[in-house]
Amino acid sequence: MSNRVDVVIQPVVLRFSLLDDEVVYFFAADTEAVLDRMERMMGIDPAESALFDSNLGFLPVSTTVLIRGERNILVDPGNHHTGFYGQLGIGLSRFGLTPGQIDLVVCTHCHHDHMGSAFRIPGADIVLGEGEADFCEEIYGPEETAARLAVMGRLIEVGRGEELELMPGVAAISTPGHTPGHISVLVESESGERVLVAGDTVMTRREYSERTFSHWYTDDQLQGLHSSLDRIHALQPTTVMPGHDRAFAPAGRPG
Ligand SMILES: [Zn+2]
Repeated sequence: MSNRVDVVIQPVVLRFSLLDDEVVYFFAADTEAVLDRMERMMGIDPAESALFDSNLGFLPVSTTVLIRGERNILVDPGNHHTGFYGQLGIGLSRFGLTPGQIDLVVCTHCHHDHMGSAFRIPGADIVLGEGEADFCEEIYGPEETAARLAVMGRLIEVGRGEELELMPGVAAISTPGHTPGHISVLVESESGERVLVAGDTVMTRREYSERTFSHWYTDDQLQGLHSSLDRIHALQPTTVMPGHDRAFAPAGRPG
């Protein structure tokens, strides 16, 4: 059986900020473009001050991907709201599936916009990179993390620097940098397609092609991102599905 890869929920970002005492909403598929535009509108020089200082908040929505083959694998079920307000269930129903028919949930990393709705698929085994569960504890606290993992099936971990076959033609690949235990998923089909579900190792197309990253990354994170991107480029994907941008075919690649 050949594997099928589909986007269940498209990535968007809703940000709200204060501009001249007005709350301004930004809604776009490209996080980088949103940030750039906000900084310009608000007259913020990123070298001088942090945008987040004047940012009231934001609600990112990551790319949710369904991989169907021998098993049904869902990558990044999305933020709390997509599950809570039913978007995840509606998205899956377009493919004739219910959450209960998902065998395996892969969270590329623990950030809430990717993992918040994992627990809407109770009982499914969950795949995380080595060290990411510890990072969850840092973000959500040990109790909350334990409670969330308790509703899931087995915790399957991908060793740092390693890859793990999830089903024939589908592998989880260690891509640390954005977070300590970040993973991506490579889906290979018999026709030669190589789809990389990148998570936030590639937030936007620009990050993949130009390696221009958000200015809030630390030097350590950037170092990790660069080596993970080297690894991803070497995989020669025919399609890349970024964490917060539309899928694209890398330039210069056949197919
Ligand atoms: Zn993230």
